[in-house]
Amino acid sequence: MTSSRRIGSVLFLLLTATLGACAPSTDGEAGVAEHPALDDAELPRAQRLERLLSVLAADSMEGRRTATPGAAKAARFLAAELERYGVEPAGDDGYFQRVPLARVEVATRRGRREVLTIPSDAVDFDTLPPDALIQGEANVVGIIRGSDPEVAHEAVVVGAHFDHVGIGPAVDGDSIYNGADDDGSGTVAVLEIARELVRGAPPRRTVIILLSTGEEMGLLGTRYYIDHPVVPLEQTVADLQIEMIGRPDSLAGGSGRGWLTGYERTTMGDQLAAAGSPIVPDPRPEQNFFFRSDNIAFARLGIPAHTLSSFNLHSDYHQPSDEVDRIDFQHMAALVEAAIEAVRFLADGPRPAWKEGGMEGLTRR
Ligand SMILES: [Zn+2]
Repeated sequence: MTSSRRIGSVLFLLLTATLGACAPSTDGEAGVAEHPALDDAELPRAQRLERLLSVLAADSMEGRRTATPGAAKAARFLAAELERYGVEPAGDDGYFQRVPLARVEVATRRGRREVLTIPSDAVDFDTLPPDALIQGEANVVGIIRGSDPEVAHEAVVVGAHFDHVGIGPAVDGDSIYNGADDDGSGTVAVLEIARELVRGAPPRRTVIILLSTGEEMGLLGTRYYIDHPVVPLEQTVADLQIEMIGRPDSLAGGSGRGWLTGYERTTMGDQLAAAGSPIVPDPRPEQNFFFRSDNIAFARLGIPAHTLSSFNLHSDYHQPSDEVDRIDFQHMAALVEAAIEAVRFLADGPRPAWKEGGMEGLTRR
């Protein structure tokens, strides 16, 4: 989940990259060997989620900040998991969709500052100094092909961002911002969804598993995916992001329940609720969560796109104390169960549609 203060777009580029490129290699180390084999197929869901999240949010991942070795290590772990489940890779390098990044300076109201960016109409990477370019960052992408010839060409994107904010100012002697809830919880939920889709009956529509990087830096990974989709965006019928589901939210009804950002904008929430899903409208619309996660990049293109969450505004948000031992795995397992059902519904059921006025506040890019 991005901070509400984050600037949404890069406005003025001053092509004066100053820092040397930080280029973590994602090739140097073996993917699977650096993590213990998680032979856990028969474990209860809560225990399996705990094992996965304990790896992803460990101090050794260094807070998974985009363009650091910790993020690259996390990406390798996620790719190894998808491989273990038998999900077909859908990146340009196995499961990795390489995301070219550059460090550029931008002018903001508070002065110049350096940001990461992807290539765009505004930023031609060919014109940047080589030391501004960053190699080795990637989304982790898989595909579960649809089985119904009528709709298999249509895709549902299911995503979560695996990056977090990295290492920062120490609080009580802890400087690693683990991001167990934000968004380790959503990331391992999406792993679990992928695993269940492969184990069960094949979905009618194709499901894209998108574990994105750079969300905390301005939805970089998702914006790159949108420029390089696995299935054309015209055939992408829905996007469901999962963000911060590690603790129950009393305003959503407590354990095992969640809320959907922008619920009232499309038919998705009503359709899921009618199918028995324990999902309610976002109880805190004033927080603008609909605009603060990867879903918004899809929504701006006219694709019904929402984020499932149970974030209760806990004070560990973007703090070193967002740790695994504060996760309620019984709650999370129940909500993941609901998310699996929701994805099955989106893949097999009627397409969600925008309600009248539902795209208010969204400008197409
Ligand atoms: Zn966040």
